[in-house]
Amino acid sequence: MSDRTAELAASLAALRDRIVRGCEAAGRDPASVTLVAVTKTFPASDVRALLDLGVADFGENRDQDARDKVAALREAGVPQPRWHFVGRLQRNKATSVAGYADVVHSVDRAQLAESLGAAATRRDRTVTALVQVNLDEAADRAGRGGAVPAEVAQVAAAVAAQPALVLGGVMAVAPLSADPGPAFARLAETAAAVRADHPAAQWISAGMSGDLEAALQHGATHVRVGTALLGGRPPPLG
Ligand SMILES: *Cc1c(COP(=O)(O)O)cnc(C)c1O
Repeated sequence: MSDRTAELAASLAALRDRIVRGCEAAGRDPASVTLVAVTKTFPASDVRALLDLGVADFGENRDQDARDKVAALREAGVPQPRWHFVGRLQRNKATSVAGYADVVHSVDRAQLAESLGAAATRRDRTVTALVQVNLDEAADRAGRGGAVPAEVAQVAAAVAAQPALVLGGVMAVAPLSADPGPAFARLAETAAAVRADHPAAQWISAGMSGDLEAALQHGATHVRVGTALLGGRPPPLG
């Protein structure tokens, strides 16, 4: 085992333990939670190591980086994991993303649902789509992305209308500087409203390295973890 693989094995064990304890505190079954390893900025060799350690779901936030990793695994003859696209998505990238992503967590407007649905149809793929919800009280759309809660039903309906998309549920990133609990509570309410219209849309993608326990308290089914698993990232450019 390489040093890096040993390091990843140790942080994966610690993370799985955190998820189990977070579920216990929330009175939930850990089997109801999926870990999505967010490998952005880390090399394809880390994806391979985590695959060998039993991680099945991987998240990326930039199309080009995701494509590079998909290609690296393909060249190595390694079966693809489930790929989750978790970043801001421009409509002109929909065709590319629909080519490899099994799940897109960041659908936040009806037009994007239409573009992604058309792209998935063209590429003969079925893509699970989550409605990204903006949990910022200030609802700063330019900032972190996401539909404001009042728009969510409309975006969910636009996803559900696309034959090549499956509406999985909702996703959110907690506001940066606040206690994430109330924000995740609002997300849980939004998720329940979506389920009232679309009973199969059961996913709540919430919780990252710093706040996954709070997300588990509020029903997260998918936690997206980067730093706690892979280590620190260099700050993004721009
Ligand atoms: C980077 C990223 C994560 C992982 O964040 P960490 O704090 O490193 O765990 C989760 N979700 C999204 C949308 C991200 O961009």
